[in-house]
Amino acid sequence: MKNINDKVALVTGAGQGIGRGIALRLASDGADIAIVDINEEKMAAVASEIENLGRKVTTFKADVSNRDEVYAAVEHTQNTLGGFDVMVNNAGIAQVNPIADVEPEEVSHILKINIEGVLWGIQAAAAKFKALGHSGKIINASSIAGHDGFAMLGVYSATKFAIRALTQASAKEYASDGITVNAYCPGIVGTDMWVTIDKRFSEVTGAAIGETYKKFVDGIALGRSETPDDVASLVSYLASPDSDYVTGQAIITDGGIVYR
Ligand code: NAD
Repeated sequence: MKNINDKVALVTGAGQGIGRGIALRLASDGADIAIVDINEEKMAAVASEIENLGRKVTTFKADVSNRDEVYAAVEHTQNTLGGFDVMVNNAGIAQVNPIADVEPEEVSHILKINIEGVLWGIQAAAAKFKALGHSGKIINASSIAGHDGFAMLGVYSATKFAIRALTQASAKEYASDGITVNAYCPGIVGTDMWVTIDKRFSEVTGAAIGETYKKFVDGIALGRSETPDDVASLVSYLASPDSDYVTGQAIITDGGIVYR
């Protein structure tokens, strides 16, 4: 694979889970990394892991649902690391509720983080690439729930479908600037997010703790749950020059659950 030596990548939600895995993988690929999250303690831990890989790293506390904070994160990245080449809009939250019980406040909350957070990230990154006068890569977190609507995850699925729409539209709008926009669609990744999902399923359905997660993992063709590294491999490709001719795609990495 062609490398991304000395490129600068910003990863949102990189304090843990998939975002942490992506940040570490892109650092191993040779990039300097800006970690953006709401949790400063977790960012600091990931930053020292990246320093140990011999790459430059900076952290910036920002809530991705706040447009000004996202623009400030991009500005900070360029000022601190001396460039800006790759934007990974990874931060997102889960929400589990049957359609019949969904309340307005929880819908506004998840839409602001999962949809607006990615929208501001696309906007801020593209504006910076254009100001710097060079191409760039924008990579967004969707999900298998962005291809199939999952029961009890209806609103979450809606936010992940929306990411595919934003990815396609912005890929078309920014293509003439040499900016590619793609999305990665993980399956069942064993992060804290799934601890939350599993717990909430058990509250609503009465399933034992761990049972829902096991049921989903048992349905994976390749026979195991996904790791952040599995997701990071795909993101590494989307961040590298090997994917220069790929844009507007929402690529599934799920071990065989949803087939497109
Ligand atoms: P996670 O909950 O383990 O980690 C999410 C990180 O994002 C945390 O560090 C958290 O502090 C940060 N974050 C949350 N809200 C934020 C905000 N408003 N601004 C900035 N940072 C914020 O989640 P994960 O499993 O690593 O998921 C990462 C992404 O991948 C999400 O977009 C998620 O929807 C998507 N995804 C996850 C799975 C899965 O199975 N875990 C599957 C498909 C897609």
